[in-house]
Amino acid sequence: MSEKEDEKGKRGGHHTELYIEVPPTCLPIVYSPEYNITFMGLEKLHPFDAGKWGKVIHFLKEDQFITDDTIVAAREATEEDLLVVHTKRYLSKLKTHVLEGSREWSLVVATITEIPPVLFLPNFLVQRKVLRPLRTQTGGTIMAGKLAMDRGWAINVGGGFHHCSSDKGGGFCAYADITLAIKFLFERVEGVCRATIIDLDAHQGNGHERDFLEDRRVYIMDVYNRYIYPGDGYAKRAIKRKVELDWGTEDMEYLQKVELHVEGALNEVLPDIIIYNAGTDILDGDPLGGLAISPQGIVKRDEIVFRAARRRGLPILMVTSGGYQKKTARIIADSILNLHQQGLIEGGAAEGPETSLMPLLMSKSLSSGATFNAI
Ligand SMILES: [Zn+2]
Repeated sequence: MSEKEDEKGKRGGHHTELYIEVPPTCLPIVYSPEYNITFMGLEKLHPFDAGKWGKVIHFLKEDQFITDDTIVAAREATEEDLLVVHTKRYLSKLKTHVLEGSREWSLVVATITEIPPVLFLPNFLVQRKVLRPLRTQTGGTIMAGKLAMDRGWAINVGGGFHHCSSDKGGGFCAYADITLAIKFLFERVEGVCRATIIDLDAHQGNGHERDFLEDRRVYIMDVYNRYIYPGDGYAKRAIKRKVELDWGTEDMEYLQKVELHVEGALNEVLPDIIIYNAGTDILDGDPLGGLAISPQGIVKRDEIVFRAARRRGLPILMVTSGGYQKKTARIIADSILNLHQQGLIEGGAAEGPETSLMPLLMSKSLSSGATFNAI
C-alpha cells in the first residue's frame, strides 16, 4: 500500500486496486459472483430478486455474448476507496451495532437495506453477506468508469445505488457508487472535467443529487415517478433537467420524453462522460415503481440513450440500479444483446477455451478485508 508521490493530496492520491489495466481481450462488462446477496433465504423477505445480477450474466453466456474470460472481474471497494466520497462517521456507522441485553442489533444496515431480518444478524454476518456484495458492486462501478473512458462504453451489471450520498444511505443503497465513480474520474483521469448523469430509474436519484448539489461540473437529468420515494425536495435543486412522471406512464409517452430530454441534455452541455443509471423498476407491474413500461420499452429506452451517447462520441457508463422482478434479469440481458445487435457496443467474439473466472476472483479482496471482521 504505497502512499507514494502523493501530489494530488490525500484523497486523490491513495493507492487503489480499482484502476488496474484490463486486457484488451475483455469486454468492458464488469461483474463478480459476489454481487449476489444470499443468506439462509432471508433475502427472500425483501421484495426483490437478490440474485438478478448473476442471472443477467447467465443469460448473456447462454446467448454466447460473453464467457467467463471476456468479462472484467469486479473488485471490492476498500475503506480508502470509499473515503473518496464517504465520511468516516458514515462508514463507521455501518459497522456499529446496538447492544441491548444479550442481543446485538444491526439497526443502521437493516434500515438502509430495508431487509428487516438484518436487524437480528450479528454485525460480522451483515458485513459479509450484505455490505460486501454492495461494496463489490460499488468497486465495479468505479472500475467501469475508467473502462468507459478507455473503451467508449462500459456496463457494470450491478451498482446504481442512487439514494446514497456521502453521509447517508437509504432505499437499499449503502454506498454512493455513482458519486464515487465520477470523483475517481475527476481526480485520476486527465481530461474528465464534466459528467452528465442520466438517471432513468423509476425513483428520484437523491443520493448523487445531494452529493453534487453545488458542483457545476455535473449535469443531472432525472426522470422518475413524482409520487413515490424519496420525494427529496432539497435534492431536486441539483437536477438540471427534471422529468416527473405520473402513475402508470406507458411506453409511448415515456420513450418520447426520454428521447427529447436526452437529446436536450446533451445538446445543452457536452460532457466528458455519461453515467447512465438504467433502473428497470419502470417495468409494468413493479411493486415500487408504479409505472407501466413494457420489456420492449426498456430495451428501446437503453438503445435511445446509447445511440445519443455513441453518436456524439461520448463515453458512457451504464449501471443497472433498481428493478427486482423475476423477469428483470432477462430484460437487462435482452437489452445488452440489442445494444450489440444495433452496433452500439462491440461484441465479445472470443472463442477461447471455457475457463473459470474463479481464480481471478479469488485473488481479489484478500488485500481489502480490513473493513469487516474476518472470522
Ligand atoms: Zn428505483
